[in-house]
Amino acid sequence: MSILAVENLGKSYSGFQAVNGVSFALQAGEMLALIGPNGAGKSTCFNMIDGQLRPSTGRIRMFGHDVTDAPARAIWRLGVGRTFQIAATFGSMTVAENVQVALLSHHHGWYGWRWAARAYAREANNLLTLVGMANQAERSCGELAYGDVKRLELAIALANDPKLLLMDEPTAGMAPTERGALMALVSRIARERTIGVLFTEHDMDAVFGHADRILVLNRGVLIAEGAPAEIRSNSQVQEVYLGAGSLFGAAS
Ligand code: ADP
Ligand code: MG
Repeated sequence: MSILAVENLGKSYSGFQAVNGVSFALQAGEMLALIGPNGAGKSTCFNMIDGQLRPSTGRIRMFGHDVTDAPARAIWRLGVGRTFQIAATFGSMTVAENVQVALLSHHHGWYGWRWAARAYAREANNLLTLVGMANQAERSCGELAYGDVKRLELAIALANDPKLLLMDEPTAGMAPTERGALMALVSRIARERTIGVLFTEHDMDAVFGHADRILVLNRGVLIAEGAPAEIRSNSQVQEVYLGAGSLFGAAS
């Protein structure tokens, strides 16, 4: 059974179709990439799927529930993790505290900041170990390197024990070597925990190296769907990417 099914999804802004008739499904444990040039509608799709933006048309189902009109918080409660194109963490708190707050939120308990400082310390440490950040647990988030913020953001998303992870450009702003490492980490965790991942990514090595399947969006419309090898040899896809640089060249 698919954990996410999107049918005829659309979003228009006063007549302009940002997303138009998008349909696809995501299976448990699958790494599914949504790619396309800037302005193709990728972030708009993510924002509709995670409940931040109301679709103009279509239905969204998760784990068998219709969540088309559900608010972000209800979707998060179903077991959905999300990372953003621009990382969002509490800069004034330490790395460990950021993960602890996410764990607290997942377990619905909130008894004040002082209690939060002790609660879930071990679970937070386990998650930080998983993403390779345990040695930075006591640092303030505001002083982290950008790549480390992205790894922390992944730990925060995992605190919700998600079965579905939505990642909008998880490696944006990272150095090329860090990008591959982060995507390798995500795909290893996804396989170990049977998490279905929908991600968008500019770095084509990361996409073709880690996606099981790829969706290609152009001007709001899905123009191709298939295994990496099929997408690579798809002439329509190659045409779309000619203007934005080769599919296999430097990231745009
Ligand atoms: P991508 O993430 O693929 O780069 P987006 O989903 O951010 O693309 O944007 C898709 C298109 O929708 C773009 O042309 C963008 O300018 C437009 N768009 C996005 N948000 C809004 C908005 N709030 N109002 C009007 N147009 C928007
Ligand atoms: Mg975007």
